Amino acid sequence: MKKKTDLRNFNQEQLISYVESLGQPAFRGRQVMSWLYRPGVIAFDQMTDLAKEFRQVLNENCIFTQFDTPQIERSNDGCTKFGIQLHDGKMIESVLIPETDRNTLCVSSQVGCAMKCSFCLTGTMGFVRNLTPSEIVNQVCSVRDFLQEEPENNLIGPSAITNLVFMGMGEPLNNLENLLISLSILTEQKGLNIAGRKITVSTCGIAPKIRAIGENSSVNLAISLHGANNEIRNKLMPINRTYPIENLMQACREFPMPKRKRIMFEYTLLKGINDSDEDAKQLSQLLSDIPCKINLLQYNESPSLPYKSTSRTRTLAFQEILRKAYYSVFIRNSRGGDISAACGQLAAKGNNNSI
Ligand code: SF4
Repeated sequence: MKKKTDLRNFNQEQLISYVESLGQPAFRGRQVMSWLYRPGVIAFDQMTDLAKEFRQVLNENCIFTQFDTPQIERSNDGCTKFGIQLHDGKMIESVLIPETDRNTLCVSSQVGCAMKCSFCLTGTMGFVRNLTPSEIVNQVCSVRDFLQEEPENNLIGPSAITNLVFMGMGEPLNNLENLLISLSILTEQKGLNIAGRKITVSTCGIAPKIRAIGENSSVNLAISLHGANNEIRNKLMPINRTYPIENLMQACREFPMPKRKRIMFEYTLLKGINDSDEDAKQLSQLLSDIPCKINLLQYNESPSLPYKSTSRTRTLAFQEILRKAYYSVFIRNSRGGDISAACGQLAAKGNNNSI
């Protein structure tokens, strides 16, 4: 049987080219795009402003995939974890983090991850495969529908996803091509229409690919830093041996972004590893010529990993040193820990690392 083309793998430009390849004018591509992500639309026959013959062509050649209902786990603190089974049986996870004024969805970009950061459970899974653009955007569609279909699911936040962070399973820049297509769909008005400034892509430090994010999208950049020198980063994040901290900082300095924008540096405090006054001073020095904000993250301990979280008092002392150096520095408390949905805890059961 002929394999059908999943139209949710195309951004608008690609969709127009595809529709043209079917002998249709470009505007039909824009028309199809405006239907593909509408809640409740599951069939081409619902796209009522398309000619019947064209809908027939689409039915014969194309599909637009949607996820089956995800497995849902709720945390005591309001976070919800969505376990999603992909067409090949692999599992991914997305996490909804509600606050009174916003709903942030943390999405995955790969099944597993090849980066092996030593404090992260996802890293222990190994790399399984990249997600397609449709598998990235369908996480958003799935959770959007969950919020809309059952108002009681809105928890404490608004009834829609307001912010997206690429901090789930995987290293987004190792899936750059599909990431950029998905960002284009997510931000496109006829797609999911989420403003670029509400989306953050986080990388562990694939220095040569950082620029591409700024050149091809308007989203925010976050760097998982977790250490202010090569010695610490080498221990925590093997990627630092390939792209040492000097290369990473240079890529950040050269990151194309508007004047008022800043790069977010994520720094997980690990007891006795990277949380001393000296570490804070080094961090302050390291970032001195980069427009940035700093998030200090509370570590989620795991019995299978050797690290311990830093005390509240130490965290505040670390923050104070950075504040005195005029940084915007926030302490992010861990959320979703009771359902293994917190940062570095996503390691969906049911995957193995054979492709
Ligand atoms: S922290 Fe991110 S990049 Fe590192 S292993 Fe975990 S998922 Fe991969």
